[in-house]
Amino acid sequence: MYEMGSREAEAVRKVIESGQLFRYHEGETATWSARFERDLAEKVGVRYALATSSGTGATVCALVGLGVGPGDEVIVPAYTFIATALAVMTVGAVPVIAEVDDSLTLDPEDVERKLSPHTQAIIPVHMLGLPCDMGKLTRLARKHKVKVLEDAAQAAGGSWRGKRFGANGDVGIYSFNYYKIISSGEGGAVLTDDKDIYHRALMQHDGGCAFFSLAAAEGAPVFAGGNYRVSEITTAILCEQLKRLDGILKRLRARKAAMAELLARSEAFDLSPVRDADGDCATTVGLRFDDADAAAAFAERHAADASMFRPIDTNRHVYGNWEAVMEHVAAHPAMDPFQWAKRKIDQGPDCCPRSLDVMGRTVCVRVPYGLTLAETRKLARRLLG
Ligand SMILES: *Cc1c(COP(=O)(O)O)cnc(C)c1O
Repeated sequence: MYEMGSREAEAVRKVIESGQLFRYHEGETATWSARFERDLAEKVGVRYALATSSGTGATVCALVGLGVGPGDEVIVPAYTFIATALAVMTVGAVPVIAEVDDSLTLDPEDVERKLSPHTQAIIPVHMLGLPCDMGKLTRLARKHKVKVLEDAAQAAGGSWRGKRFGANGDVGIYSFNYYKIISSGEGGAVLTDDKDIYHRALMQHDGGCAFFSLAAAEGAPVFAGGNYRVSEITTAILCEQLKRLDGILKRLRARKAAMAELLARSEAFDLSPVRDADGDCATTVGLRFDDADAAAAFAERHAADASMFRPIDTNRHVYGNWEAVMEHVAAHPAMDPFQWAKRKIDQGPDCCPRSLDVMGRTVCVRVPYGLTLAETRKLARRLLG
């Protein structure tokens, strides 16, 4: 979250005064939730948006939307928040872990190696707002007839070649938890152009009865879904947050560009490659060192100058720390998705050595949102020292 203020507070006040905190009530299309979904779909450039209670929930709904389930394999990157892999296991499928390249995003070449006849989907994750190579990944997916679920949890509003994240694959997801670019504390969204994916996600998101009139009207299929609904308070905040999104990205990009221009002069490190600088959400600047020790020493030396981290030190964002995935632990022993896999999938903490290497050699410096451009340049100069 970068900005939150009186406009969000005013929106919440209106919801409370209206007494209507539930998204489905009379005049369903006039709710804050419906308005947010309309605005978000328009911003991203897709036909359908579905607001959900979290990004993880959105991923589950998107996977159900794609028809992914037991026996299926889904390719996920070695560097992503654990939630991406957990959502795959939640629907009974197996996450197959693929390498990230120097850009810290999914390596298309390793994806091609990890594809099997049982692969149903690929999940490119725009980590830290950094664009994945959606050109190569979507071409690969088309060639092998697998679906693409674009995880833009950390990348709201970013784009690939001018097309917003969420609109480049078959389905996309956003997260609005406290740490994301725009936020309602908790929240998420599913984005798609595909009516069937939307209908299945809609049913998964509310398998109860609150919206049955709506579902019947829209012809959604009936199956045992869950509850990933949002409240009107969440979407009232998000309506205001969405209006701020492009301004936030503009400010971040200007600061990242100012830092990158100076930091490119360093002889101690290279800037991490960015696959599409115009679409980058610009939340961090990646510095790539020759080895992990040099990166760690830099981060330690400059700890007081700026907020920074090595991806390898970020716990549940590194695949080797996903115990539930590594050890095949599901909510119930009888629900272990790996037993339904159509081949033996062996992946231990060393299965993606190139990812471990790049995550250790890279330092991500957070772009200082609150600083002026002059202060930002000053910060960058300190990092050169
Ligand atoms: C935050 C995040 C999620 C999950 O979002 P929640 O809203 O916390 O459930 C999924 N994928 C990635 C890459 C994330 O960073």
